[in-house]
Amino acid sequence: MAGVDDVNHYFRKAARVMDLSSRIERLLVTPHREVKVDVSVTLDSGELGTFIGYRVQHDRSRGPMKGGLRYHPTVDMDEALGLASLMTWKTAVVNLPYGGAKGGIAVDPANLSPRELERLTRRFVQQIHDIIGPQQDIPAPDVNTNAQIMAWIMDEYSKMHGFSPAVVTGKPVDLFGSKGREEATGRGVVWALEELLADLGAGAIEGKRFAIQGFGNVGSWAARFIHEKKGRVVAVSDVTGGIRNPEGLDIPALVAHVAKTRTVQGFPGTDAIGNEELLALDVDVLIPAALGGVLTAANAKDVRARIVVEAANGPTTPEADEVFAARGLPILPDIYANAGGVTVSYFEWAQNIQQFTWDEERVNTELHRHMREAYATIARVARERRVPLRTAAFIVAIGRVGRATVLRGV
Ligand code: NAD
Repeated sequence: MAGVDDVNHYFRKAARVMDLSSRIERLLVTPHREVKVDVSVTLDSGELGTFIGYRVQHDRSRGPMKGGLRYHPTVDMDEALGLASLMTWKTAVVNLPYGGAKGGIAVDPANLSPRELERLTRRFVQQIHDIIGPQQDIPAPDVNTNAQIMAWIMDEYSKMHGFSPAVVTGKPVDLFGSKGREEATGRGVVWALEELLADLGAGAIEGKRFAIQGFGNVGSWAARFIHEKKGRVVAVSDVTGGIRNPEGLDIPALVAHVAKTRTVQGFPGTDAIGNEELLALDVDVLIPAALGGVLTAANAKDVRARIVVEAANGPTTPEADEVFAARGLPILPDIYANAGGVTVSYFEWAQNIQQFTWDEERVNTELHRHMREAYATIARVARERRVPLRTAAFIVAIGRVGRATVLRGV
């Protein structure tokens, strides 16, 4: 998992290069607000289900705070804090007028019925409605949450505060969602990779071999766009394990298989592999797109990919990062690589506030522009300061958040 110590390790590395004053450093790492609430609900059996919900708001100097809601057993304050601070840096890297937040519920939603999931979500909104809002904190989907859950959040919040579609993003397109939001993170991951490949003079996606860990929203959309561009996705995995076909997987057929069976397992023409094995495959590009903390001191030396693209948040521990840096392995850092999701969330929020809808072409054109401009900025800083892309991305973000903090004053 991506705890706050790991994120602050990367933050401090960049702060040292920038010679940041300790006063600003302390202001930037100290979270704005941490909230822990009881989300007990009556289960279908009539029993009481007790769950804990979290929301961490990290920094609001550049605007309302923004970040996903995760429903997963590992959700806790440390994880939420780490992910909330990543959102502060991510929104600054792509220059959105936001600060960072994150949260969720410690629960395995696979054990809940749809009605239980709805009750849990509405209860959570009842508990945190006074600290979220269109100008305060705007949640979005993350691991195990989706457009339907965002619709329930909008509905419950609107009961208390009046019509408020902009309280949450990643909603269904039929309920004030934005065209292109569902696929935005995966699309942004692939555009980010294209920027890096062009910079390295390493050719196109066509013909390259990919391994993708996680086949949910982000992993499956990234796989679809890679497949469209004639890249070969040779292995994918989910929580149940992975599959491999060295010739390349038929991604549209795999998406249909997963829609039917809920797992990548058993897809015809593939061998089963484990999640650890997938990380060590001899491929051109490795894309972790599931949980944090999967590339560690223990397995970093086994990674044979030529490029790592962090579609997940916090997949690389600081120890693994050192191993990769010593080898000169290019890493596209999470705070840039997966920023396409929050960027189109920003477009959704802006459309909701203006009550004016964009067509998909406008969404994608604007998204592509944000991904290109952010890459150009961090690549320039990486060259000027002779630092890896991650440190460069943190330098850009800390500079923007730091300047806003100083201008506002304490
Ligand atoms: P999701 O719930 O749609 O999919 C998660 C996938 O990971 C599923 O295939 C699941 O089976 C798999 N998985 C879960 N535990 C695993 C394990 N232990 N080993 C291997 N696979 C496992 O979630 P998502 O929205 O696709 O998010 C994936 C990652 O991307 C997360 O780190 C999230 O924070 C990050 N992210 C998501 C968005 C977004 O817009 N959804 C934006 C930016 C970053």
